[in-house]
Amino acid sequence: MTTLVNSRLVDELGRAHEFNAAACMDCGVCSAVCPLEIELLPRRLFRHVLLGMEERLVEETETIYSCLLCGLCEESCPGGVHITENVRALRHFLNTNAVGGAR
Ligand code: SF4
Ligand code: SF4
Repeated sequence: MTTLVNSRLVDELGRAHEFNAAACMDCGVCSAVCPLEIELLPRRLFRHVLLGMEERLVEETETIYSCLLCGLCEESCPGGVHITENVRALRHFLNTNAVGGAR
């Protein structure tokens, strides 16, 4: 399977938002405190962005939209990642730019 890489993905996401996926240390605290036990958010999704894996983001559209934006993960994040703002940015990106025309 061929995976297209968008080397400008993180720049495109960061253009209109304070997107700071690079601050993620992949510690797993966010997954542990999430009331929905959303394992993908935010660390895996942010990794997709940093690697330019736009198609993988589109594949995770349902997960991205299932987040409650409750902020519990953000309160516990040792990296100071703007998790809820980042999720909003991902939704905005999927709505306006992503391949395949998500939601
Ligand atoms: S808690 Fe913060 S630093 Fe840790 S994996 Fe989640 S987003 Fe990354
Ligand atoms: S904002 Fe809430 S629902 Fe969304 S990933 Fe963080 S803890 Fe889970």
